[in-house]
Amino acid sequence: MRITVIGGGVGCARFVLGLREHIRRSGSGDTIDVVVNTADDWWVSGLRISPDHDSLLYALAGVNDADRGWGRADESERVAAELHRWGTAPDWFTLGDLDLGTHIARTAWLRAGESVSEVYRRLGSRWPLGVTLHPATDTEIDTQVVTDEGRIHFQEWWVRHRAQLAPRGFEQLNIDSAAPAPGARAAIETADVILLAPSNPVVSIGPVLAIPGMRDLLSATRAPIVGLSGIIDGSVVRGMADACLAAVGVETSARAVAEHYGARSAGGILDGWLVDDADAACSDPLAHAGIPTRAVPLWMRDADSSAQVARDALEFAEERSARHMA
Ligand code: GDP
Ligand code: CA
Repeated sequence: MRITVIGGGVGCARFVLGLREHIRRSGSGDTIDVVVNTADDWWVSGLRISPDHDSLLYALAGVNDADRGWGRADESERVAAELHRWGTAPDWFTLGDLDLGTHIARTAWLRAGESVSEVYRRLGSRWPLGVTLHPATDTEIDTQVVTDEGRIHFQEWWVRHRAQLAPRGFEQLNIDSAAPAPGARAAIETADVILLAPSNPVVSIGPVLAIPGMRDLLSATRAPIVGLSGIIDGSVVRGMADACLAAVGVETSARAVAEHYGARSAGGILDGWLVDDADAACSDPLAHAGIPTRAVPLWMRDADSSAQVARDALEFAEERSARHMA
């Protein structure tokens, strides 16, 4: 079976690690493709940085800093200290030396004319990831945050302002001229199951869905599309997704996020929605809204709990698929 996941960095990496673990344990031979958000990407010190991709790459390769939650393990910051002295990198943005190696390689390939898809392929070939990563698009669609003081890059808002500067909205650069990257398109068209990771609905999943043609691919696929809630009992599990939801007028709740995505039968994208046991009460109202919902434990604390979340998501998706075909 071919499984395609759509997601961002942190929440997506946890889920995909669990999915890979579940598939290894089951011995099913299922394959995993991930359509990765590229709207967090930006240029700094002349280098192209791709945070969601690199979070996935490092986590799947087992070279990530698990305590800090981002970047490489055994990292040093000698180069960044120099860049700060030269004034070419903002002092609120940390770049580790090993991490900079990735950014330099990526930038070198982009400068030589390679596509983002090809850069993903080269970076992903270094370690046996057991998962294929695809950029959602090859076009640069960096998210801009509109604030009362003007437009700033998403990273400046997220990292420098810790998402505390009131946003009026989020806009992706060049979004009108973007298209799904070929690998992302194929991964959706040939998938047997599509899973939306419990990633940030506004700045990770949102930009992927905003790529012209992406919603058409999702509405046309025969595969069931099941989403996982990153919101448990009215709060984010990790990160600052609540600040993004507030900015677009969506309540921080598992139910509101499902309604934001919408039922595929009503022009949205969901055939099913997985929530945590704490949110079981939203199953009835969501079923009325055309979104079949199941409650299971959704905290991904370690390999076992993450593999169980993946297993539950696949089981639910297969049930939805059987209904779909019936
Ligand atoms: P992203 O993965 O790049 O979108 O990173 P963000 O930090 O913007 O959002 C992460 C999302 O993942 C948030 O909504 C978190 O609540 C969610 N998340 C992180 N860990 C878990 C977990 O263990 N279980 C669930 N259900 N969601 C999680
Ligand atoms: Ca992200």
